[in-house]
Amino acid sequence: MPKVAVIGSGFGGLAIAIRLQANGFDVHLFEKRDRPGGRAYVYEQQGFTFDAGPTVITDPSCLEELFTLSNRNIADYVTLEPIQPFYRLYWEDGYQFDYTNDDDLLYNQIKRKNPDDEDGYRRFLAYTEEVFEEGYLKLGHVPFLDFRSMLQAAPQLIRLQSYRSVYSMVAKFIKDEQLRQAFSFHTLLVGGNPFTTSAIYTLIHPLERKWGVLFARGGTGALVQGLAKLFQDLGGSLHLEQPIQHIQTSNGAIANVITNSGEKYDVDLVVSNADVVHTYDRLLSDNPIAAQTTRQLKRKRFSPSLFVTYFGVKKIYDNLCHHSILFGPRYKDLIGEIYNGPDLADDFSLYLHAPSVTDPSLAPDGCMTFYALSPVPNLGTTDIDWAQFGETYQNKILDYLDQRYLPGLKENLVTASHFSPTDFKTELNAHLGSAFSLEPILTQSAYFRPHNRDANIKGLYIVGAGTHPGAGIPGVVGSAKATAGLIIEDFK
Ligand SMILES: Cc1cc2nc3c(=O)[nH]c(=O)nc-3n(C[C@H](O)[C@H](O)[C@H](O)COP(=O)(O)OP(=O)(O)OC[C@H]3O[C@@H](n4cnc5c(N)ncnc54)[C@H](O)[C@@H]3O)c2cc1C
Repeated sequence: MPKVAVIGSGFGGLAIAIRLQANGFDVHLFEKRDRPGGRAYVYEQQGFTFDAGPTVITDPSCLEELFTLSNRNIADYVTLEPIQPFYRLYWEDGYQFDYTNDDDLLYNQIKRKNPDDEDGYRRFLAYTEEVFEEGYLKLGHVPFLDFRSMLQAAPQLIRLQSYRSVYSMVAKFIKDEQLRQAFSFHTLLVGGNPFTTSAIYTLIHPLERKWGVLFARGGTGALVQGLAKLFQDLGGSLHLEQPIQHIQTSNGAIANVITNSGEKYDVDLVVSNADVVHTYDRLLSDNPIAAQTTRQLKRKRFSPSLFVTYFGVKKIYDNLCHHSILFGPRYKDLIGEIYNGPDLADDFSLYLHAPSVTDPSLAPDGCMTFYALSPVPNLGTTDIDWAQFGETYQNKILDYLDQRYLPGLKENLVTASHFSPTDFKTELNAHLGSAFSLEPILTQSAYFRPHNRDANIKGLYIVGAGTHPGAGIPGVVGSAKATAGLIIEDFK
């Protein structure tokens, strides 16, 4: 039975650990922190439960597959329920748009905003459905290991105009600027700039329409717990608070992993779910081939970071949706500054998460749990001393919410904390504090992204946001399918 060390228990790490354990491998999953989940960590403060990261669950089929391939039923582990509308979008001029797959509601809102865009939206939808078929269903979990595989996909990618950006494709069909924003902001949730990310990412739109936006009862943390339990029920070993310090190779192949406390585990293969730069630069620090990969990786563009403020309030806001997008005064220019600096902008656009709208058990009686997420430059773009500035930025966000969207927030505030780019770097070992690893631009996608199987070190595999297809829960769970397929082929 081949012995595997999976390093990191993000969604990608958990998904591959389950796939390999279910296929007869002896899997040891090592996690640096005291809970599994990675970016999907959970904080508990004064009776409030905060999901730290992913909250918009899409494509439940990729999660269900992990249970069916293990001969288990997902319903015995976690309850996923649909959210409507998917998001409520707010602009500072007072305009609101409910983003949903309820066609009557959707078309009526588009017609009211700009009648000419009704037909444009229909054509946009037809385009995105084709992209979804090719880019997600056919290529989402195929490992692009050689250039030939890229050439094979090239005709479809060219036909679908993947060289254009998401925003430019939306703008081709839809004329109203606020509607253009409504149908292009989604790439930001996986680290992509809508003005430079390939139009292939418009597939998020049909993906959300097809399966809806879901919530795990108890929060995303309950989904993580369900996956961790499934892994352990299958006989897998979960080692929490056991950061891997070193991956040792011998004759160009994986030999063992060593934890921070000095324990050595001889293994046949390693799957790293840790940040790709951390993996090659730190964990393989004495390997000259890895040093070459590190140099190449450090030349790539990394996606921005995030500043997330978690807060609990002793007040109920009745008219909120579970997910809100609060557009600030600028769109294109603000995004440009988030991706290219040189400074942190004075304004921001926020994603506001209000899970107690769906699940009141996440806050004490009469209270609500929130987080507000502000995309900010990574530490390579704008090197801010967040330890010093974090409190000020947090207060700026809370003041803005109090004045515009959550009146009385400050006087009813029970608890508040934040997670800054520096925390991404120190807590999660994320290169430059990036929230989503390599930026998803065409020249860093598929074959051009770090490969699911390392070409030079035998027995080294990658899973998660840094490899193909990329960030987001469906992305990293898809990467686990691609990587596991290679491992099973190599070891059986
Ligand atoms: C705030 C936020 C909101 C998001 N919202 C959404 C959303 O709504 N929907 C969505 O689909 N996606 C969302 N995303 C993106 C999504 O969360 C990520 O792309 C995905 O969860 C990353 O998973 P991963 O498998 O790459 O692993 P990660 O979550 O990055 O986990 C990697 C793990 O490796 C561990 N590790 C690192 N170094 C070591 C080491 N040396 N030894 C042992 N362990 C180590 C880390 O502690 C961590 O647990 C969001 C991301 C963030 C940050």
